[in-house]
Amino acid sequence: MRPEILFALFAPVTSFDGVGPRIAKLIEKVAGPHVVDLLWHLPTDVIDRRFAPKVAEAPPGAIATIKLRVDAHLPPRHPRLPYKVRCSDQTGRLDLVFFHARPDYLRRVLPEGELRVVSGKVEHYNKQIQITHPDYIATLDELDHLQRVEPVYRLTAGLTLNTLGKAVRAALKRAPELAEWIDPAYLARQGWKSWRAALCEAHAPETRAGLTPAARARLAYDELLASQLALALARVQLRRLPGRAVAGDGRLRERVLKALPFRLTGSQEQALAQIAADMASDARMLRLLQGDVGSGKTVVALMAMLNAVEAGHQAALMAPTEILARQHMATMEPLARAAGVEIALLTGRGKGKERRAVLDGLAAGDIKLAVGTHALFQEQVAFRDLGLAVVDEQHRFGVHQRLMLAAKGRGVDMLVMTATPIPRTLLLAAYGDMDVSPLTEKPAGRPPVDTRTMPLSRLGEVVAAVKRRVGQGARAYWVCPLVEESEAVDLAAASERHAYLTGRFGGRVGLVHGRMKGPEKDAVMAAFAKGDLGVLVATTVIEVGVDVPAANIMVIEHAERFGLAQLHQLRGRIGRGDKPSTCLFLYAGPLTPTARARLKILRETDDGFRIAEEDLRLRGAGELLGTRQSGLPDFRLADLAEHAELLAVARDDARLILERDPGLETPRGAALRTLLYLFERDAVVKYVRSG
Ligand code: ADP
Ligand code: MG
Repeated sequence: MRPEILFALFAPVTSFDGVGPRIAKLIEKVAGPHVVDLLWHLPTDVIDRRFAPKVAEAPPGAIATIKLRVDAHLPPRHPRLPYKVRCSDQTGRLDLVFFHARPDYLRRVLPEGELRVVSGKVEHYNKQIQITHPDYIATLDELDHLQRVEPVYRLTAGLTLNTLGKAVRAALKRAPELAEWIDPAYLARQGWKSWRAALCEAHAPETRAGLTPAARARLAYDELLASQLALALARVQLRRLPGRAVAGDGRLRERVLKALPFRLTGSQEQALAQIAADMASDARMLRLLQGDVGSGKTVVALMAMLNAVEAGHQAALMAPTEILARQHMATMEPLARAAGVEIALLTGRGKGKERRAVLDGLAAGDIKLAVGTHALFQEQVAFRDLGLAVVDEQHRFGVHQRLMLAAKGRGVDMLVMTATPIPRTLLLAAYGDMDVSPLTEKPAGRPPVDTRTMPLSRLGEVVAAVKRRVGQGARAYWVCPLVEESEAVDLAAASERHAYLTGRFGGRVGLVHGRMKGPEKDAVMAAFAKGDLGVLVATTVIEVGVDVPAANIMVIEHAERFGLAQLHQLRGRIGRGDKPSTCLFLYAGPLTPTARARLKILRETDDGFRIAEEDLRLRGAGELLGTRQSGLPDFRLADLAEHAELLAVARDDARLILERDPGLETPRGAALRTLLYLFERDAVVKYVRSG
């Protein structure tokens, strides 16, 4: 149960005066649905409204807060012209200018003959001093409140700074003092304030420079500590239950090796040896299989799963999406068949008799291998004897989901796969302390991808070149990025490109996007895999891990809008077969220095680890990429480039806490529980008491 002291913070934002459903929707879009989300929505800049000149002294371009007398309303003579309100002080005249004005509203807030305070950007227009759409119009008693350094927040269309700022201030009022969870000695050494004080300070920056770095660091540390504590609790929980020694005799794996059209790489062999050793020990395995796209993780997973089957157990692989689950199934099924092992797919989509048969087979133990989505750990699913759980692309799952899958068996070994080559320094942010097997060696016989960058203005040439290659049997992905905030607009852009290419290619062009229903999407993907379609236009839904070896062209429009890691992942969809591959990054200029640097790195290397390091370096240089793109967990307050040191401290601290106070029973332990709830990592709290 969430502690009572936090109730007010998890109320919906509609609980504020003046926030109705419409505003709530907009706030949810930029920050989130709850009061607490507003606390985490830190300012990105400041506006200094302390400058309060007389009209005659107000220089153009300055943000000024000016006391004015309202002289006259001047409605426009033509509806296209602006509505003006003539004002003045002792030194001169200043017009307030409004386009698309609502006269009755303006008459109400700016009554003729009265004094008002107005804040906004001063303009000089035809020798006239004016302010267009002032940010604030207030009465004189509000002057003190107005004339200050105002935090600026990220907004969305329809949401004004005024409205959001008010909501944030209301949220801050609701923030309670909370018992300190940071180690007192560390807190003192850092010179940090209490949680509440730090929060208020972070929302009230005095200057633009650095925007209160100390307060932000404290809040970042809180968030990192919550996530590290959750990971540490999960780890303790996984290790506490005894494992089982699982060691197969190799007979099934032997058959699969024979059926494979290739030999395992040295990295794959080594990973398999490490996995086999872990499984053979009677401690539980908790290992991360880390390999770039196309490095061959699936085969490693299958071999590990067969090791469990040889020893008489079952094994399951969980993927984050339906497409990926099906992909894994398609790879594994023929190999499992070659080994004579029963394998089944279980996703949210399966229905009726078929689903029943799979559930029965898993419960009876006839089905040895299961591949699926999160449907695998739902309540109705029971295994006779699950020995190994493989989780693909784990960062999209929460820690507790890992635990739920592990809870489907006794002493279940856990193998987590990720295609994100996370720099070592950051591994623990995403995974906590896991043993790691990296697949560094690429499977042999893959010609490198020829990567080029080109301005979007040369689209015509690109289409002609792709058309020629597709005519010769090539297969191309064509990626349209997320451009707008609105999915509908993006979809329209992709549909338009699809229509255009269909016209140019005379058919054989497919389209997949995030709004399509599963079976529809599968059908298009299948047609592309088979070669019925030569070009697949996609929004960014082409999942990490989708494997169409024959695809050898990738065109990415507006490559400058993607993160480095994401471009690398996308490019990894091609170059999987033996034919030469080409990747074209189309950009709309002018490129920012960071965007230019990103594209250059991608031309130079396809080493995922190097790209990840560069990504981090560029992020450190200030231009933040979405963490979603880099495969790292989404932190609201911590910036992994900036706060990497705090992360290490949080990790050590979390470990120490659980050594000293495993039940979180001391006063500090209680404060830490509140911290877990505050950052919504409370799914693990139930494991605290259980031992
Ligand atoms: P990942 O999941 O790591 O992105 P996959 O497991 O999907 O990569 O493998 C990508 C492709 O490489 C698959 O078509 C697979 O059959 C093939 N492959 C895997 N291991 C090897 C190997 N040792 N030699 C050649 N090809 C391999
Ligand atoms: Mg074991």
